[in-house]
Amino acid sequence: MPDPGRGLLVVGAAEVVTLAGGPRRGPSQADPAIAPPGTAVACLDGHIVAVAPEAEAEETLAAGLVTAGREPGAFDRLDVAGATLTPGLVDPHTHLIFAGSREDEVARRARGATYLEILAGGGGILSTVRATRAASDASLVAHGRRWLGQMLRTGSTTVEAKSGYGLDVPTELRLLAAAGRLAAEGPVDVIATFLGAHAVPPEVREAHPGDAAAATEAYVAAVIGEQLPAVAAQGIARSCDVFCETGVFTADQARRILLAARALGLAVRLHADELAPSGGAELAAELGALSADHLGAPSPEGVRALAEAAAAGRPVVAVLLPTVPWFLGLAAHEPARALIEAGVPVALATDFNPGTSPVTSLPLVMTAAVLTLGLDPSEALVATTVNAAAALGLADRGAIVPGLRADLVAWDVRTHAQIPYWAGADLVRAVVSRGGIVAGGQAG
Ligand SMILES: [Zn+2]
Repeated sequence: MPDPGRGLLVVGAAEVVTLAGGPRRGPSQADPAIAPPGTAVACLDGHIVAVAPEAEAEETLAAGLVTAGREPGAFDRLDVAGATLTPGLVDPHTHLIFAGSREDEVARRARGATYLEILAGGGGILSTVRATRAASDASLVAHGRRWLGQMLRTGSTTVEAKSGYGLDVPTELRLLAAAGRLAAEGPVDVIATFLGAHAVPPEVREAHPGDAAAATEAYVAAVIGEQLPAVAAQGIARSCDVFCETGVFTADQARRILLAARALGLAVRLHADELAPSGGAELAAELGALSADHLGAPSPEGVRALAEAAAAGRPVVAVLLPTVPWFLGLAAHEPARALIEAGVPVALATDFNPGTSPVTSLPLVMTAAVLTLGLDPSEALVATTVNAAAALGLADRGAIVPGLRADLVAWDVRTHAQIPYWAGADLVRAVVSRGGIVAGGQAG
């Protein structure tokens, strides 16, 4: 592996898709911003320093090295020989840190059980909570590292990771610490989110027998009064999420939790209207959340509220998760076209989790988005790069622009339109993270 302290010049791409110009919505959701043929990308000290014809990019790189007191030739050259070059993909919604697996539920659903029935019977999220509480710190980190490796091999260089399988102070802090440790390890950047309000834990249900509403209220009080202050003091989570859904947490409960989180300095986001309209989209717009995720069944008022927020310059990114309805065997799909036509910025994510989407590949999610949501390939690429970064509040990545993080993927196809087309194929030729080649590729 080349020394990441050296410069890197990436040449020979058939197509350089820059995604320059910031997050996109409406008609611009389909604008990939393709650089002129012959464009090279120069990287130095973890950042992109030039996106220009090869000779000019090389000159800028050499000058940058001299300014930094190094030899002008102290860089590696990566010839991607006819590949498509894109920014590193950003996965803005995963439940990366957990233990166990739930393949048994796939069979139960195939025989007719629904997701909420399995949850009500103590399965679903709660079975993962049992396994996660029993797992050691080392095994949680090793498990997260395994699946991050899979994500990297399909082009993801930034991955959001939620807690939410602990549902008590010590375990939620352990999950966030695992995410923080994986972030420090690299090469994939891990962005931690606190999701204490993922489900009501069994011990709180048992303390309120026969009164689910009282149990949920008691747990909301614990999230606000005990978990959030501890999470804020730990300082790893950047945002707070709530599973706002009929039968889980109401919009009013989500509002109280998210306002408390914001008062402690956390950004806010939410699982909104996944299975039924629950006021989640409206709440995301009201709070100016970074993102409203799932949106399988938003109300017309919710879509209007998101459109008005975007038009007013306070865009909430709609993070769609099209492998979830597929994995749950549901016919209903997120109204992606209606959201794009309403001017709401759209992103895509894997929702990697053991119950409803054990999917690590964003290219596969792009395929699902093209086939089931009606996105075109350019819209899907915008949704996994610049708009996905915006969903995490990150303006320093998601595009190939001087000054941004040098996170790049070289794909073994001549145009980005083929990335979702070769469904499930292994297309990644090389991955660059912070200016260093971290998967595939051979620098010369
Ligand atoms: Zn989720």
